[in-house]
Amino acid sequence: QKCLSLIKKTKFLNAYITVSEEVALKQAEESEKRYKNGQSLGDLDGIPVAVKDNFSTSGIETTCASNMLKGYIPPYNATVVQKLLDQGALLMGKTNLDEFAMGSGSTDGIFGPVKNPWSYSKQYREKRKQNPHNKNEDSDWLITGGSSGGSAAAVSAFTCYAALGSDTGGSTRNPAAHCGLVGFKPSYGLVSRHGLIPLVNSMDVPGILTRCVDDAAVVLGALAGPDPKDSTTVHDPINKPFMLPSLADVSKLCIGIPKEYLIPELSSEVRSLWSKAADLFESEGAKVLEVSLPHTSYSIVCYHVLCTTEVASNMARFDGLQYGHRCDINVSTEAMYAATRREGFNDVVRGRILSGNFFLLKENYENYFVKAQKVRRLIANDFVNAFNSGVDVLLTPTTLSEAVPYLEFIKEDNRTRSAQDDIFTQAVNMAGLPAVSIPVALSNQGLPIGLQFIGRAFCDQQLLTVAKWFE
Ligand code: GLN
Repeated sequence: QKCLSLIKKTKFLNAYITVSEEVALKQAEESEKRYKNGQSLGDLDGIPVAVKDNFSTSGIETTCASNMLKGYIPPYNATVVQKLLDQGALLMGKTNLDEFAMGSGSTDGIFGPVKNPWSYSKQYREKRKQNPHNKNEDSDWLITGGSSGGSAAAVSAFTCYAALGSDTGGSTRNPAAHCGLVGFKPSYGLVSRHGLIPLVNSMDVPGILTRCVDDAAVVLGALAGPDPKDSTTVHDPINKPFMLPSLADVSKLCIGIPKEYLIPELSSEVRSLWSKAADLFESEGAKVLEVSLPHTSYSIVCYHVLCTTEVASNMARFDGLQYGHRCDINVSTEAMYAATRREGFNDVVRGRILSGNFFLLKENYENYFVKAQKVRRLIANDFVNAFNSGVDVLLTPTTLSEAVPYLEFIKEDNRTRSAQDDIFTQAVNMAGLPAVSIPVALSNQGLPIGLQFIGRAFCDQQLLTVAKWFE
């Protein structure tokens, strides 16, 4: 009840696309009954959660914040959603995002942008008042980051305890950093993607947004495991129950600091927190080692080619025939396809479909797509080499800076900005590694700043243990 009333109070944040009030209340009633009978379905029994609107939910509209899927009601639950429900979690609703999870701001969906709850903190408001350029209070709010900004705002505004995001190039970690949350991207293959409407199949991972690392571990414990409906999931990769030690010993760890991540665009505040964090590990006896990930600078371009090519093929299913939007034009099948897709997709999605098809043309395939695959391998090998040199966990920034005001974010070319923002997160997806962003401090403006830990593939438990120690 309390979470539902907070959802209503914070409606202006635009965090939710659908609030599943009836479902949640019914689930809460059943959970309460179990509790009274001394029964429990698991760690999440009775816990309010929210789910990004690109995970299929049986009987509940799933839109991907796109006209293409507006009104689409899936007949089945994504595996991760089913697992949450099997554990007794309460589904509060479906959260807002960039259309088809393409973006880094949560500003690009058909339901409008998500507002960062921190825009309304006392400290931030007071700082803004001191700025003479800041006249228009109503439009003076910050982006959440994205594309899982609705999930981040939902947790940050206390409307639920955990939320699912998706992470293809940073979409869980980026909004977590901007909203003062833990944003965890598990190893590729640890958690099923079945029912997560795909962006880039070879990089997509369901992500977890929570307020602390322990909560993320509990949710991971509920979600991880092989799924016959997702052939990329791996058998028995982690020990269960998935618990984190309360007192970890970091003195024997080696923390890697990738030198290529120290770029001029990085804000001085993030930079100094990053270096303080490294010092903290050192003072605990851990070894802190500068490492090189030499192909980092290619990662954004490489991601762009691979992302758009997969998008081009993924989006082909939205043709107006089987489900989703269909236009009124019926002069020919081709005209119907074209008009449906023109009406259904925003320009970001259409732009990616066009780029992807360009890269896949016979004459471009070798030069772009195959080359990008090779570069991806080099990027992944950089991480392998760093870990082989003895590094246990890498420590990096999550984002270039704290959250920026919406008006600033949309001023520049959104897509260029979006691409820059993913510089510290994207390569991890290309390598399939686990990574977690945790909130470390507030900036001078009173806004949260996150740092990222990156672990070896399937060493998610070790990664979260280090993050918990640092938290
Ligand atoms: N910003 C990246 C993109 O637009 C990543 C998105 C994501 O992780 N879903 O592709």
